[in-house]
Amino acid sequence: MITKSLVTAVGLTLLVGCQTTSSNEEAIAKEVKLAYGNVVKDGETYIPAWQRNVEEINQVLSNVHHCADNIVLRYQTMSAQDISDSCKLLLDTQERFHGMFKRQHKPLLHDNNTVLRANIYAGRDDYVKYVTKHFDVPSNNGGMYLEGLPHLENNSAEYVAYLRDGKVWNLNHEFVHYLDGRFNTYGDYCSPPHDNHYGPEYCPTPAPEPPYLIWWGEGLGEYVAHLNDNEGALKLAGDKTYQLSELFYNNSANWDTKRIYRWGYLAVRYMMENQRDKVETMLFHVRRGDYSRYQKIVKDWGTSMDSDFHRWLDTVAVQ
Ligand SMILES: [Zn+2]
Repeated sequence: MITKSLVTAVGLTLLVGCQTTSSNEEAIAKEVKLAYGNVVKDGETYIPAWQRNVEEINQVLSNVHHCADNIVLRYQTMSAQDISDSCKLLLDTQERFHGMFKRQHKPLLHDNNTVLRANIYAGRDDYVKYVTKHFDVPSNNGGMYLEGLPHLENNSAEYVAYLRDGKVWNLNHEFVHYLDGRFNTYGDYCSPPHDNHYGPEYCPTPAPEPPYLIWWGEGLGEYVAHLNDNEGALKLAGDKTYQLSELFYNNSANWDTKRIYRWGYLAVRYMMENQRDKVETMLFHVRRGDYSRYQKIVKDWGTSMDSDFHRWLDTVAVQ
C-alpha cells in the first residue's frame, strides 16, 4: 500500500509540474528514490521505465488501437490488415487458453493486469534503436513480455515487439506469457524460482535452488501458440536429446533455442496431454505462489515419466 500511494504521488508530480521528458526525469530524481527493477526496498518507489519515458514512447509509438477492452496495440506503423490479423490472433489465443485451463476467466489473487498493451515497432532496426531507451530491456531478442508488479493497482502489463514480414514477431508466444502470468503463475516475474537477473526486473541474486519454472513458461508459450502445428519441434522429437526430468531443470545458464523453446514445447505438450492430473496438482501450488511446494513436486516426479516421455516422442515425431 505504501508503494502504491507513493507511485500515485509521483504520478501527480509529473502531471502537474513537468512539461518534458527530461524534466520529468529530473523531478523523479529529486523527489524519489527509484527501485532497482522489481525489487522495491523501504523508502524506494517503483516507477518502471515505460512510465518514466511515456512521452518519448508516445512520440515514436504514436498510434493506438483497441482489439478489445483488455488488449491494446500501441504502434509506430501498421497496415489495417496487420492490425486486424494481430487482433484476431490474440483474441483466438485468449479463447484457446481459457478453454484449456477452464478458470472461468478468473485472475489470480492480487493480479491487477487487466489490460495488456502490445508496443510494436515498425521493424527490427527501430526496435534496436528505441527499445532499450524506452523500456530498459535488452534488444537482442524477438520481443519481451514485461509483467511489472501486478499487485499494484496502477500497474500496466506491456509487451515489446516489432514487425517482421508484415507480422508482429512472436506475438502469440509473448501473449501467452501474459495469460500465464495472470491466470497460472502467482506474483511478478521475480516470484517463481529462476536464475535470470537481467533487466527490466533485475531480480535479486542469489537465485533460489532449481528446479525453476522456465520449462513451463516457455514451453507453454509455444504450446498454446502452436498446438500440434510445430514442425520445428516435432522434427527434433525423434532425436530424444533430453530426458523429461532434465527439461524440468531448464534455466538461463543452459539456454539455447532448441532446448528452451522446442524441447520446452515437447515437455509441456506431453504433460498437458498425458499427465494432466500432475499438471493440475502443480498449478494448484503455482497459482497460490507456493513455489517451494512446486519444487518439491517436481523433485518427487524425478525420472518417473522419462521412459513414457520417450515412448510418446515416437508417436509425434516427424521426419
Ligand atoms: Zn518466452
